[in-house]
Formats: sequence, structure tokens, C-alpha cells
Amino acid sequence: RKADVECAVVVLGAGPGGYTAAFRAADLGLDTVLIERYPALGGVCLNVGCIPSKALLHAADVIEQAAHAGEFGVEFGKPKINLDTLRGYKDKVVGQLTKGLAGMARQRKVRVLQGTGKFVSANEIEVAGDDGKVQLLRFGQCIIAAGSQALKLPGFPWDDPRIMDSTAALALADAPKKLLVVGGGIIGLEMATVYRGLGSEVTVVELADQLIPGADSDLVKPLADRLKKQGVSTHLRTRVVEARAGKKGIEVTFDGDNIPDGKLYDRVLVAVGRAPNGNRIDAEKAGVRVTERGFIEVDAQMRTNVPHIFAIGDIVGQPMLAHKATHEGKLAAEVAAGHKKEWVARVIPSVAYTDPEIAWVGVTEAEARAKGLKVGVGKFPWAASGRAIGLSRTEGFTKLVFDEATRRVIGAGIVGVHAGELIAEAALAIEMGCEVEDIGHTIHPHPTLSESVAMAAEVYDGTITDLY
Ligand code: FAD
Repeated sequence: RKADVECAVVVLGAGPGGYTAAFRAADLGLDTVLIERYPALGGVCLNVGCIPSKALLHAADVIEQAAHAGEFGVEFGKPKINLDTLRGYKDKVVGQLTKGLAGMARQRKVRVLQGTGKFVSANEIEVAGDDGKVQLLRFGQCIIAAGSQALKLPGFPWDDPRIMDSTAALALADAPKKLLVVGGGIIGLEMATVYRGLGSEVTVVELADQLIPGADSDLVKPLADRLKKQGVSTHLRTRVVEARAGKKGIEVTFDGDNIPDGKLYDRVLVAVGRAPNGNRIDAEKAGVRVTERGFIEVDAQMRTNVPHIFAIGDIVGQPMLAHKATHEGKLAAEVAAGHKKEWVARVIPSVAYTDPEIAWVGVTEAEARAKGLKVGVGKFPWAASGRAIGLSRTEGFTKLVFDEATRRVIGAGIVGVHAGELIAEAALAIEMGCEVEDIGHTIHPHPTLSESVAMAAEVYDGTITDLY
């Protein structure tokens, strides 16, 4: 059968992993095709993930700051929220970025095929367009970047629009009076922050015994305390047993240690994790091995078990984060172009853009202790930071985890406003193998929150002794 399209490299999926890989491959001179089922490039991150959530969190932050401005003598009235305008703002932010990507693809002569791609052999993909047209594409090499989708808890009435996944929650149909968030991880808590800002009464249930289960518990405490003060009720070690669509709302029954009082909710957001799309692309027809859960295994060069087929991003495993996907995308494209490279990053930072933000990178203190590593910790409380005091946000702290034998930093955790902006320094320090003096002796600008990173090193070092 004659192919409709032929190319040196095809990238399946145009999320942060896929578009980065396609652009890099084209920049390296490879004739590249990018397949995407949706009209807009950018994948989950740009369209229904990182970007729209942060645009809405910005609005929630402004509302929250205005509510506290009375502390320094500035009074604002009750916020008047126009949801249509807010939705429009979010869509404009997303549109600006996705249009930018389309331009970047054109500039590089990356051919974009809109449709759903599925393998038919180790060198062919069929692309089915929305119009029913099917094109056969023959490729030399392939980079799978088909991403992930929200896990849908079974037994929920998913055909009822009051049951939402993160995509529906970001669509911002309304600000429900009572919102239940199932799952106290990053996505659930970011959306809880947005809706609480918009005036919803928010309840969060989480199966584990802390919010954001991957982070150290001391980092999570200031967030949990603030949520409590804000009236967000959080329920740990609690599970939803059943959710039924009723006339007056979604009726929810719970099981666990700490069951919420209310049973009736106007909307329910389910944010219990994401499932990779590995089982939806007929990978077996190309001979690509996919795990039962839908992940594709790759080596340090992002190659699957079929050497000319690579995979990157959410589909290859945790952490499911955009910056991991882009890094892998670049690497796969470079290897496809013949570069002798492999994965060398030591650490990948994580950030919850909640209020306060929580950011961590490398080994957590809990992990270090569980593994029996000999570590020491330097912790600098923001109550001693002039900048944090001026911002009236002293609940944060910065913590560095050092290997006792080498005095090198191997992990960091920061909680507080803008923690996400601060964690990159710690990531660089870990990548560079910095010792405690390298960080402590680096002159940081005053007064900034970034000083807290150097101060944490000095606490570990014993240079600062009078904090506690
Ligand atoms: P995706 O972004 O999932 O893109 C895959 C693309 O492939 C999609 O466009 C899909 O339509 C397409 N596709 C799939 N199958 C096919 C097929 N058969 N044919 C054609 N096209 C196909 N990460 C962060 O780092 N920071 C954040 O702040 C952050 N916030 C988030 C907030 C939310 C609400 C969500 C849901 C996620 C968030 N993430 C965040 C995670 C981030 O979005 C993902 O890690 C990232 O998008 C993964 O990129 P990817 O390229 O692997 O895949």
C-alpha cells in the first residue's frame, strides 16, 4: 500500500514532550511530521493543564491578597467576579501560547497532521481525521509522546456534568456553592484553591494520611493550616464509597477516619491521578512493549524495545510533569539525529502552585531517613526573613538536605509564597554537586526570599546558630 505521507521522523502527540521533540528534530535537519488529534498544539499542559490552571490561580491569588490588605490599612470591598471575563482571560492566555506553537511549527517546516494516530506496523501509522479521512504515514523513526489522561474513578455517574475531571473544572462552568474535591494531590489542591477564591465552599477528601503525599509532611503543614483558616475542610484517610446523581446535588457516601459532615455537593471534582495512553495507540502492532497500566518502558536514550521508536513524557512514567517531558523530548530528538547522548539529569523538581506554594527536588527528608542515608538538614524559617515579614507571609521555610559524608546537597524542600520560583537554585546546586559552603558563601540579594536558600545552608553549617 502506498503511503500518503513519508517522513524521517514522526512525533505522535503535540504536548510539551511532542512539540519540543518535533521542533528539535526539525532544527537538526530531520524531515519531521507531528500528529495531534486536537486542532490546537500544546497537549494537556497548555490546553487543559499547567497554563490554564496557573492563569486561574493568579485570579485566586489577587482575590486572597485583597482580602488581607486590611492588615496594612487598605480595604477592598467584596470581590465582584465575572466568570465569563475570567474564562476569557484564561482562554486568551492559552490561545496566545498555542498560536505561538503553530507559528513555530510553520517556521521549522514541521508538517502537522490533525487526527488520531495508531500504529499499523513498525514503520507505519494510520492517522484518522475528524472528517473520517484516513492517511497512511510511513516513517524512518518515531517518537511516541501521546501523554496521559485523568483517571476516572469507576462507579461515578460520569455522564452527569456535575462530576468533573480537571479538564471540566478548568472549563469553569460556574462557581458551585458546595464543591467536593476527591484527591488531595497537587491538581486537586490547585483547583480547590481556585474555586475557594471564587467563593465556593470546598471540601477535600484524601485517602493517604497527608495532603500532597509525595512531599515531606513538614512542608505540607503550613498549607494544611492555611487551608483550614480559609475554611477549606480537608479529610485525610477518607475514601469516597459512592457518588449518586440526585436532583438536589451529587450524593456522596464516605468511608474512613474523618468523614465530612455534608453528603450533598453541587459539583464533585475527581483528581486521583492520571493514566498513561500507552494502550490506546496499537503499540503492539509496532512491536513496542507496553505495561499493563499503559506505560512504555524506555532506556536512558528514550528508546523503546524497538530501537527506532522512542517514547517520552507522561507515557513513560512518573513524575508526570511538563518539564520532564520537554527534557526527554529534546533528548529523543537528538538521539534520533545521531547524537551520542543519554539522560544525565540527577533530579526533577516538583511544584504545587497552591497558597502557599510547595516545591521540592531531589531526595526528600522522609525518603533519606527511610533509606537509612546519613543526612543532615538545614532549615531556615521564613519568620526570620525580612522579605517574608514584609509580605506578611512568614509561615514558609526553606530546607536543604545534605549528605553527611560529602556535605553535598542532595535534596531541598521549600514552602511559602513563590516557592516554585525558588526551587530551581536548589536543583542547580544538586546537579552541580554543590557542597554546603558553595551555597552558603554565594552572595544572595537582600531582601529576597532566595536568601533563605543560603541561610538554610548556613544553618546546617553552624554559621547561623540563634534561630531556634
Ligand atoms: P500531553 O501533554 O498529555 O500531550 C499528549 C498529546 O498527545 C495530547 O495533545 C493528545 O491529544 C495527543 N494524543 C494522544 N494520543 C494521540 C493519538 N493517538 N493521536 C494523536 N494525538 C494523540 N505539569 C507541570 O510540570 N506543571 C504544572 O503546573 C502542571 N499542572 C497541571 C495541571 C493539570 C490540571 C493537569 C491535568 C496536568 C498538569 N501538569 C503539570 C502535567 C502536565 O500537563 C503533563 O505532565 C504534560 O502535559 C505531559 O506532556 P506530554 O507531552 O507527555 O503529554
